[in-house]
Amino acid sequence: MGSIVIILFLAYFFYNALSKNLIGYSQQFLSKQVEIASNESQRKFNNLFEDLSFFTKNLESYDDLESDNKKQVLEGRIRRLLSSYGTLVDTLFIAKQGSTKGYLVKGNNYFEEIEVSTTKEFAGRDRYLIIKSHDRIFKVVVSLNVGAFLADFASNHYLGEGGFKFYFQEDKARVISPDLSEGEVISFYPGLKREIDNEIKGGLKGVYDGELIWNTSGAKRINAIIAQYPFNLHPLRSNYAFVFARDREVVVARIFNTYMLLLVGLFILLLFIIYFMIKHFRSINSNNYKLQKKSGEINRLFDQQTLLLQGTKGFVYFHDANGKITNVSDNLIDVLGYEKEEFLNNQNRNYLIPEEFTKLRSEVDKAIENKDEYLEFELNNIKKDGSVIRVKCFERLFYDDEGNFTNSVGISTDIHEKYLAEQELIKSENRLRAVLNSLPDIIFIYNNEGIFTDYYVQSMELLFVPPEEAMGKYLGDVMPYPLNEKLVAAFNRVLETGRVQTEEMDINLKSGRKFFQARFFKLDDKRVISVARDITEQKLWENGLKEAKEMAEGANRAKSEFLASMSHEIRTPMNGLLGMIGLLEGTKLNEEQEQYVKVIKDSGESLLVIIKDILDYSKIEEGRLELDLVDFNIVEEIYKVTNIFSGLMSAKALKFGLHIDDDLPRWMTLDKEKLKQILFNILGNAIKFTPAGGEINLSVKGESVMDKNYMISFLIKDSGIGIPKDKIEKLIHPFTQVGHGNAGEKNGSGLGLAIANKLIELMGGSLDIESEPGNGSEFSFSVFGRVAIPKAGDTFSSIEDAKNEGVINKISERYPLSILLVEDNEINLKFMVLLMKQLGYEVDTASNGEEAIAAVEKRDYDLIFMDYQMPFMNGLQASKAIKALKKGKNVRIIGLSANVFKEDIEKALMSGMDDYLTKPIKIQELVNKIKTSFEIIS
Ligand code: ADP
Repeated sequence: MGSIVIILFLAYFFYNALSKNLIGYSQQFLSKQVEIASNESQRKFNNLFEDLSFFTKNLESYDDLESDNKKQVLEGRIRRLLSSYGTLVDTLFIAKQGSTKGYLVKGNNYFEEIEVSTTKEFAGRDRYLIIKSHDRIFKVVVSLNVGAFLADFASNHYLGEGGFKFYFQEDKARVISPDLSEGEVISFYPGLKREIDNEIKGGLKGVYDGELIWNTSGAKRINAIIAQYPFNLHPLRSNYAFVFARDREVVVARIFNTYMLLLVGLFILLLFIIYFMIKHFRSINSNNYKLQKKSGEINRLFDQQTLLLQGTKGFVYFHDANGKITNVSDNLIDVLGYEKEEFLNNQNRNYLIPEEFTKLRSEVDKAIENKDEYLEFELNNIKKDGSVIRVKCFERLFYDDEGNFTNSVGISTDIHEKYLAEQELIKSENRLRAVLNSLPDIIFIYNNEGIFTDYYVQSMELLFVPPEEAMGKYLGDVMPYPLNEKLVAAFNRVLETGRVQTEEMDINLKSGRKFFQARFFKLDDKRVISVARDITEQKLWENGLKEAKEMAEGANRAKSEFLASMSHEIRTPMNGLLGMIGLLEGTKLNEEQEQYVKVIKDSGESLLVIIKDILDYSKIEEGRLELDLVDFNIVEEIYKVTNIFSGLMSAKALKFGLHIDDDLPRWMTLDKEKLKQILFNILGNAIKFTPAGGEINLSVKGESVMDKNYMISFLIKDSGIGIPKDKIEKLIHPFTQVGHGNAGEKNGSGLGLAIANKLIELMGGSLDIESEPGNGSEFSFSVFGRVAIPKAGDTFSSIEDAKNEGVINKISERYPLSILLVEDNEINLKFMVLLMKQLGYEVDTASNGEEAIAAVEKRDYDLIFMDYQMPFMNGLQASKAIKALKKGKNVRIIGLSANVFKEDIEKALMSGMDDYLTKPIKIQELVNKIKTSFEIIS
């Protein structure tokens, strides 16, 4: 709008200046023309006057005008005069006394002389010019036509279109041009007329802006530029002036027309310019708006990215066309440890591994060549502190219009932990693969929907369809009916229960009828695995020998039952026998007799141990022994077992080393008691068969087999007497001994390893024995376990804790008690004494009930540990008797028994025992009993 106003203003201004200029020029032109016309007419008139005066003078010298000669001369002169001033003069008169003659030239140059009446008056204003002769005898007169003369003069001056010419005689204005028709009048506006009259009268020239009134049909006012120049026609008396005028409108009209066109043109141009400007501004505006929005978005994205990067440990970087990094975001320091400046100035790219850099360079070049917009790669970065981390980079590449690479922006993220985890996963997957590949079984892996995802098959003969065809298909669709239903049901049970499901299959294959045993179990949260084994041979054997086997089983069971009851039966008379031997020992014997008695006693005692082992073994053989899985801290339990033996080992000055692998998960699920029994037997042997001063080492480690399943391996190494090669294999059979012939063997039954071996097999492992006589033995075995969730109240979360907690140390300081141990078995007694010593107690001992009663009478005891089975007076009887004593009333008696039958417990409590402990004595339970006893007593 502003520019329109300015343009209009300028146009007006320009137009104004131009018109003013033009009018000024017109005024000048008019006044010049009018001046010239006036001066010329004045001069012409002067010439006439002079010529006439000269003519008159000449005429004076003529004596006789009538002579022919003279007449001719005169005529010639008059003719010349008349034709020189044709329009001004029409007739020349020569008036004398008595005659007046007139001369005139008519058309066709016809000269005429006429006689004029002497009375003719030459009057009338400016009608005649009269020159009298010097002697006044005659006068020469010319009749004038001033109007025609002036009109003639004026016609020489062209004023252009719209021009008006007037002459003034006195105050009479006469129109010279245009030619007016009948009734037309042009007059000056009265005020203007007066002004012009005054100035003419004063002999002043003038220029005016005024109005002419043209009376045609109705008055028309004409705005005009007017110029006036006054003059005199000497000797005429009137004042004359020429007045030239021009219609102002006509003067201006032309420029107006031209100018208008120009203006309209300019205006249209302006409109175009404005239109394009608006369009341009609009597009700029909308571009700006878009740009603003975009930049807002970019900012938001950048913020989000920065946030994300903060979370994921990453930084943004910018590359120029030469691949030089031009900028990086501040969080670089969190990722690579470099300051921004330091990183940008790092010309040598110390943060890259040279070989990797060369490889990367060629990859980038390839991407640029292909005009790829995105580039993704992983590489190792060297941090400022020298450590190497894995990063993942994502780059956006930019190109100009010609397709030349201009720059790129990238995000580099630290994925080190994920990378390590992935590597670990790959390793363990490879391990799993290796294990699975080495198995002779037919192995399939499924997802949780029952779709085949992988397989490990050694022999294709045993399959319905080639394994690769089953991939991606549903278990229920691949297997034939009705087998598929059975297998799908087993598969579903795995998902529901998480437990191993075993199915036997009887299948007709091309190669004949086959029996399979398939085990389904969870591989991890997402996969299920099936392991199928060809058991055809076993099955045939089973079928063929079923009867025999059943018989054998029956016989075996009968044998076990027989052994169990026999051993039980033998124990009673054995106790009697040993009791009697004890009595015999007490009588007066000579040296020889004493020796015999000792031999009988030792034999009796070892017989008792044998009977106990036989009982255990028969139980395993007879009853279907089952695993009792519990979650427990395995490290803690291993320490407890070794602690129990610490007394025996220190008594023999054995060096004991224990190493538990740090990778072994502390909390596991497996049968704790059976594991402990295995360790007890093998460690016990190692101690038994290693001479004093020797060395025993126990090392434990765990290996993840599948996901949370662990194989826990134990290795017990001693520097003992060793075992001959040919005996090793036999040791796992009951009642086998090498024949070292030492005391250890004599005390044993040859059942410990057989029992341990059975338990190990039950727990999914096997026992391996390596030994050489004189060079010690290595007993190694492994058992299966699963990682368990640690339970609250886990007091020993580390080996150190277990050591430092003082499970068994300084118990006596915390719970000071006076204790009596009553036990008839010497070894047991010794063991118990040592155990108590470890707990910090100095205990008194008694080997039978009577000794116990005697001890109680002598001293005040807080606590008595009393064996059930003892010669002469058993634990129950002794307890009853002690409780009957004055000093024994408040003493707490805890029974020790291998039996945990309900009747036994009831019997014990009835007889006055306060509590009981089952053998073998577990140190923690012992400590617990001491603790509760202390709390009850005090
Ligand atoms: P026992 O009750 O007789 O110890 P075992 O089954 O535990 O029965 O052991 C069988 C025999 O194996 C032992 O009597 C002994 O001869 C031999 N034996 C077991 N462990 C070792 C060992 N660590 N060093 C040498 N011999 C051993």
